This record gives sequence, structure tokens and C-alpha cells, in this order.
Amino acid sequence: MPSYQAPIDHVRFLLNDVFHIERHANLAGFADATPDLVDAVLSEAGKLCEGVLQPLNQSGDREGCVRHADGSVTTPKGFKAAMKTYAEGGWLGLSVDPEFGGQGLPYVISAAVGEFANSANLAFAMYPGLTQGALAALLTHGSPEQKATYAAKMTAGEWLGTMNLTEPHCGTDLGLLKTKAVPNADGTYAITGQKIFISAGEHDLGENIIHLVLARIEGAPAGVKGISLFIVPKFMVDAAGKLGARNGVSCGSIEHKMGIHANSTCVMNYDGATGFLIGEANRGLNAMFVMMNEARLGVTTQGLAVSEVAYQNAANYARDRLQGRALTGAKQPDKAADPIIVHPDVRRTLLTIRAFNEAARAFVLWSALNSDIAHRSADADMRRTADDLLGLMTPILKGVLTDLGFENTVRAQQMLGGHGYIEEWGMEQFVRDARIAMIYEGANGIQALDLVGRKLPRDGGRAVQAFFGEVSGFVSQTESDPAMAPFSGLLRLALGDLQKATLWLMQNGLANPDNAAAGSYDYMHLFGLVALGYMWGLMAQATLKLKADGDTSDAIATRLIVGQFFMERILPETRLRLARLSTGATTVMALPAEAF
Ligand SMILES: Cc1cc2nc3c(=O)[nH]c(=O)nc-3n(C[C@H](O)[C@H](O)[C@H](O)COP(=O)(O)OP(=O)(O)OC[C@H]3O[C@@H](n4cnc5c(N)ncnc54)[C@H](O)[C@@H]3O)c2cc1C
Repeated sequence: MPSYQAPIDHVRFLLNDVFHIERHANLAGFADATPDLVDAVLSEAGKLCEGVLQPLNQSGDREGCVRHADGSVTTPKGFKAAMKTYAEGGWLGLSVDPEFGGQGLPYVISAAVGEFANSANLAFAMYPGLTQGALAALLTHGSPEQKATYAAKMTAGEWLGTMNLTEPHCGTDLGLLKTKAVPNADGTYAITGQKIFISAGEHDLGENIIHLVLARIEGAPAGVKGISLFIVPKFMVDAAGKLGARNGVSCGSIEHKMGIHANSTCVMNYDGATGFLIGEANRGLNAMFVMMNEARLGVTTQGLAVSEVAYQNAANYARDRLQGRALTGAKQPDKAADPIIVHPDVRRTLLTIRAFNEAARAFVLWSALNSDIAHRSADADMRRTADDLLGLMTPILKGVLTDLGFENTVRAQQMLGGHGYIEEWGMEQFVRDARIAMIYEGANGIQALDLVGRKLPRDGGRAVQAFFGEVSGFVSQTESDPAMAPFSGLLRLALGDLQKATLWLMQNGLANPDNAAAGSYDYMHLFGLVALGYMWGLMAQATLKLKADGDTSDAIATRLIVGQFFMERILPETRLRLARLSTGATTVMALPAEAF
């Protein structure tokens, strides 16, 4: 049976020593986030995730969700009680505005808690996670009446949310969407159509389900410019907030799938269901992007979260499992063999995962902090820069962290040899659960295209220039310090590769867009490597400062070694990525379709 321990100390180090959240006390909610309060929140979240959610992970996977003849869906044993505990603990509303029942704490704290929940039980964490995304869209684009009707109940976790985009013939290309919305005389709409693959579409975890649905109003323009967003509640809600009649939406079936078995993935049928327009007609994608961006950060966290729990179990196993002897002589001569942790290749594998996990956690929290600044700062310039960086990084976070998160679950599984393939140990579940994060919320190939096609050129490259300026400023400021040299020197080389790749794309992508698209995946990963390398630079700097201030704990030496491993063994991949993308599209596009 796998185990999990929330990485509270590392989060505390990142919040206090690397990102200094106390320096943002002028942002709403940050003054309340004193170190004591943050410690208490993290430790309670750790207890909940370790003690309540994690024990249901394997049983939930085995049991799965069941759809009954009447269309209702039952989640695995224990999920209902866990959801009640999660909701009553106020975990959904950690960073929601107190006006809507939340605690108004920084989003960066909520992001840290999100990682714990996803490590403990990814399939469970999706239910509250999607609700938080739906709530974000509602609070940004909903009318005051809509907010008053739904927000507090969703914050309290009594009503849960979903996101309905995908249709049988339309996934990536939402312009093909057919679900239609016909205006009713009372200002509502009758929604008719079929959505597929809807996570948490039907279940027994809340009193009501608030579906956010993309549909096309009759007569609207074709393509993405004719899509609107609607609230479609499972049960109608009266003026007093009481639940009324069942709406015309039902679960037609649930998917049998590779992983996340405990999350119900539903075909949802809308048969003239009553829908309420959110925001402006035909601007639905714009409104849904709030939810999608929130969800993308959530999915990003899933990549890290499963990589972390898989690492913990692989490292525990490697310390215990006795096989072979160390090449340099027996390390435990009294035992029949040495533990496999003595073998360099086992260490290389574990360090590869760990070096990613720590940098990825820093990257997620750095981005979440930028989200806080973008939404809460009174300074327009700070808001703009933070928003630029977040927009630029969203496809990189989603694409790179979920790709590497999945690869790491396979690496961790490998550490258990044949036992990694056997269900009992739980490692194969991590592999299966992590795989979906590369696909949903925009498949990772689409993230790469979004980066190269939209995010890079936006506002004349303002965001990318801001990031290059920040990293090169950091390198210049730190490289004269000999203790930082192993970090800053290698980061400068990697940044140089990224700048060359960016220039190559600018010079060759405009002339032939296939050049940009054929290099986009390598570019996204190259960018991700530099961002993760920068995070290691920041963490090394903060660690050296703690050391200089007299901290002699083991964590200091350990962190510097793990960081050095990243810089020496992982970051140089930027050269390979640059070499690949600079070959352009000629070979990629040379074969006719029949030759594949
Ligand atoms: C378990 C699960 C849960 C899900 N949850 C939800 C949910 O809650 N709500 C929801 O609305 N949807 C959900 N989805 C749907 C998911 O978001 C889509 O499956 C995903 O966006 C891809 O769409 P598709 O499957 O139609 O693939 P397609 O769009 O057909 O793409 C197939 C492949 O072609 C590539 N491709 C497509 N177009 C291009 C292009 N222009 N350039 C380069 N490559 C391209 C894609 O990257 C992909 O690899 C879920 C799916 C699953 C499996």
C-alpha cells in the first residue's frame, strides 16, 4: 500500500525564504497570511490529505464510479464522507473572496494545498478542483444575481461545478461546437446537445451540480465567435436559493478509462435544459478561458503532485529493497545484499524525479504568486507584468509539468522492478492517473502551439522580454558569487539557448508557419527547462543565505546537491532542444499522408 507525506517543509521554505510572501502584505489577504497561520493551514491540509484522502486512493481506483439505470452515479465508498470533511473544513474557499463565503487567503496558499490533495488522491481532488474553476469563471463574468445564487453554495462545497466544452466531433477545435441555445421568452435559454468526457458530470457528492456549458445561440456566427457560456444547474434554484425541479440535463453513460477511475467521466445529454447566459452572448470562450486558465494551473499541479507521491514511494522502496552490492564495496555487509539505493543508476533516477519536483513546486508557487499580484495589486504596472508572465507561462506550466510528471511516474515505477507493475504497490496507478493530465485542458501539443503562436508574439513580445530580463538580471547579480557559480553559470548558457531559439522562431516562423509549429514542442520544453533552472537558482540563493545565517540542518546540504544535479544533468537538454527545433519543418512535412 503506497504512502504519502505532504512536503510541508519545502512549501514553507518556498513561501518564506524564496518568495518572501510577507513582502506582499499590501495585497488583499496577504496581511492575514502570517507565518503562523500559513503553518497551521499547511499542517491541517497535510493531515487531511494524508489521513482522509490518501487512504481512499487505491480503493477508489479499484471500485470506480457506477452509473445506475436512472442516470445517477455513485462514487466509491468513503468519497461522500471525505467530500463532507473537505467542504466543512472550508478548503474550497481558501482563497475565495469573503463576500462569497471564502477566507480570502492568497491563491498561492491554495495552490500549495492543491498539490497535497492531488498527490493524495487525484481523482477525488478533481471534484473540488473543477468547482473552484467554475466559481472563478462565475465570479469574473457572472451577473450580481448569478453570483448571489450560486457562489456561496459552491464555495461551501455544497454544490459542485463542471466544465462542458467537448462534444463527440469537437475537442481541440471548439469552433465546430454544435450544442444549441434557443432563447426562451423569460430571458433564459433552452440548451440542447451532447457533451462527452465531462469530469464530475454526475455524482453523489453534492446537493446540486452547476454545469458551465458552451453552446451556440440560434443564428450566432459560425466558429469560435458564435459561442456563448451558460450556467445549467442540475436542479433549478428558486429566488430564495431553494432547490426545485430537476433540469433537463442527465448523464447518458460513464466512460471506462485508463486511470482516475474514481472520477466520473460522463456523457452529458442536454434536452432543452434551462440555461442562464453568463456574460455577453458570443463571448463565451472568453469567459470560459477564466475557468480553463484556472483549470490549467490545476492540471499543472496534477503533474507535479503525482510525480511527488510516486517519488516518495520509490525512494522508500529503494532504501529497503536489498539487491546486489555497491560497486565500491558492501555498504551493509551484515545483510545478504545492499539496498538498491547504493547503485548509481537508482540514484540518478531518483534524483531526476526529485530535482524536477522541487523546481516544479517552486514554479507552480511562483506562478500562483504572480496570479495573486495580477488580481490583487493596486499598482497597474505590477498587475500588468504579473499578468504577462502568467499568460506566457500557463502553456509551459501545463505542457512541461504534465509531460515530465508522467515520465517521472514511469521512472518511479521502474525503481520497484516487477513490483512496480503489480497493482498492490500502487505505482501502476500513479502512471495511469498521471497520463490524462497531458491530454485534457488542451492536449500538450496544443499548449506548445499556444505558446509559439499566441503567447510569444503577444504585445510585441513584452512578456518574453520581461522574463528574459528577470533571469538575466538574476544571473548577472549572482554569478560573481563562487557558491552560486554552479547555478548561475549553467543558467546563463541555458538562457542563451532559449534566446537563440526565440530568435530562430521569429526569423523563420513568420516566413513559414510550419517552421514555428514543427519546433513548438521543443521550444515549450526548452522554455520549461530554463524556468525550472531559474527556480533552482532562486532556491540555491535562498539556501545559501540560510546557511550563511547559521542554519546547519541536513536540508541545506541536501537541497544544494539536488539543485546541482538539476543544473548538471537536466538543464543541458536545452542544447538538444535548440538543435532540434533549428532544423525547421522541411523533413517533418516532407512525407505525403499515405506514407505514414
Ligand atoms: C478523462 C477525461 C476527462 C475530461 N474532462 C473534460 C471536462 O471536464 N470537460 C471537457 O469539456 N472536456 C473534458 N475532456 C476532454 C478533453 O479536454 C479532450 O479530450 C482534449 O481537449 C482533446 O480533444 P479530443 O479528444 O477531441 O482530441 P482532438 O482534438 O481530436 O486531438 C487529437 C490529437 O490531435 C492533436 N491536434 C488537434 N488539433 C491540432 C492542431 N491544430 N495542431 C496540432 N495538433 C493538433 C491534439 O493535440 C491531439 O493530440 C476530458 C477527457 C478525458 C479523457
